[in-house]
Amino acid sequence: MSLTLEPDGETLLADRALELLPWPTVIIDRKLRVRRANETARQRFDPPDGPKSALDDVLGWSGRVPADARQRILASCETLIAGGLHNPRQDAMIVVAPGHTIALHGRALSDDRWMVVLEDRHGRVDPGAILEEFFRDPITELGNRPHIERKLEETLADDDPDHHPALLVFDVDRFAEINDRLGRQGGDALLRAIAGRLRRATRDADELCRLEGNSFAVLQNNGLGADNLAVRLVDLLGRPYLLRGEVATIGISVGIARAPADGGTAAALLMNADLARQAAKEAGGHTWRRFGQTMAERARSRLELEADLRKAFAASHFTLAYQPKVDLKSGAIAGFEALSRWTCVGRGAVPPGLFIPVAEDIGLIASLGEQILRTACHDAVAWPEPLTVAVNISVRQLETGPAFVSHVLETLRESGLPPRRLELEITEGALLRRPDEIHAVLRDLHDAGVRITLDNFGSGLGSMRQLRGFPFDTVKIDQDFVQTLDSNEASVAIVRAVATLGAGLGLHVIATGVETIGQARLVRAYGCSGIQGFLIYTPVVAAAVPSVLARDIAAVLG
Ligand code: C2E
Ligand code: MG
Repeated sequence: MSLTLEPDGETLLADRALELLPWPTVIIDRKLRVRRANETARQRFDPPDGPKSALDDVLGWSGRVPADARQRILASCETLIAGGLHNPRQDAMIVVAPGHTIALHGRALSDDRWMVVLEDRHGRVDPGAILEEFFRDPITELGNRPHIERKLEETLADDDPDHHPALLVFDVDRFAEINDRLGRQGGDALLRAIAGRLRRATRDADELCRLEGNSFAVLQNNGLGADNLAVRLVDLLGRPYLLRGEVATIGISVGIARAPADGGTAAALLMNADLARQAAKEAGGHTWRRFGQTMAERARSRLELEADLRKAFAASHFTLAYQPKVDLKSGAIAGFEALSRWTCVGRGAVPPGLFIPVAEDIGLIASLGEQILRTACHDAVAWPEPLTVAVNISVRQLETGPAFVSHVLETLRESGLPPRRLELEITEGALLRRPDEIHAVLRDLHDAGVRITLDNFGSGLGSMRQLRGFPFDTVKIDQDFVQTLDSNEASVAIVRAVATLGAGLGLHVIATGVETIGQARLVRAYGCSGIQGFLIYTPVVAAAVPSVLARDIAAVLG
């Protein structure tokens, strides 16, 4: 079925048919603009101007349809459009006010036109329809979390031994990045497109829902084929999407839990399927995992770590260790890098590589980072001029934007440390998300005199682009390259190239992880301007800084 929009006989007939419909009916395009409205719709909504008005404006005109009902109508239309010609129908009951609902019937006419009938129903409303609304996700028109919980409980209560229900839970890998790129509406369109493919990949008897955000669930009454479905979903949902003129490709991480082995209640199955999903994500994403007991144990120990971390923060149990950075030209210490230390009763020393990511995940990094910066600035102000202190900054801190800039400047003022004596180390990976916002933060701090260092250079993606785009003073070559100089020719080539590149861009280039005099000589010969590593010193407590400064570094370097 198609509606030709050329002014020929067919169109005239179609127009007349539209006018004959007794319900308010509109024809919309992909951009949710009203291309035609029949007489009943014109009377009902009394739209402001002719064709091509936005559907939202038409519905909202004279305040005849309240905002929340309008939202639901628009969401249903978006789902209809996302379904294309594969999923050409969409029906919904939208509650406008007590005793007043709109029955929406949407149908695809062509790949760019959809007909939407908006039938007002007054008086006694079907309570079942309202109940269904409660269990429906307005964006994708799938079920929502209460829906899947209800279905899970029903299925679990049915103790037919031949039933082996399985729950699959999945989410989109790096959804936040995709959402940033596509914008919120693009993100919603992606969710609807996923829902469309999910419908096609599953059987009618399967229950589908969007749990929240970008996570979805499938309940299979008979889940013997759950593994196969997981494989199919990873493949089908991983194929490219065309969204608002942009091509997007995603990966999904799927977790599977089966009843009764993996849980006898809706809550237990949801939790365990989610743990399996996390395991799939940790394995790099775009894959699936079945729940196993070790996952539950890991989750428990992770929760304990989180609790210990919170307690340690409240009790100010974190300290800083300082590791010197040596300037190869003068052979003198140019400054120190502050590194977090946490010794936990019962665990011993927990490395920052382990607890910083957890602090980021649980939202503790902002306060912990503030504490670290404050301590580092107060310690460094007692050091002789012009020694610098370098503080590692997490991307979560940078994402707070202007608030982070004000916090750094306020800390400098309060401690009395001149901005040029503070360095902020940003790891490469941190710059991949929201580069524009992070660029603005770094630019403001750099303009205020703070130095900016690109840490772990070479360990991530997009290194060269970052060197061009951001206001760096220093680049630190990742210790992996330095430590493989004698065994890997590529490392030699990379260290040389970065040193030359850095010199060309007027940057300091520091080789990190220098453990032997041989490595120090090599990196100096390749043109690095500074080194850091166990050869000079392992990180020391603040009180030991004067004795480190008293040491004859030139003698160590030979
Ligand atoms: P990073 O910024 O690359 O810090 C250098 C790491 O290499 C430190 O590990 C340091 O102890 C270690 N290191 C230094 N010289 C040598 C060497 O010659 N050989 C070897 N094998 N290792 C060397 P650490 O202290 O365990 O820190 C690990 C990472 O944790 C840091 O890597 C940094 O990314 C993060 N981190 C540490 N403290 C903080 C902090 O206060 N805030 C944030 N956001 N991250 C931190
Ligand atoms: Mg660092």
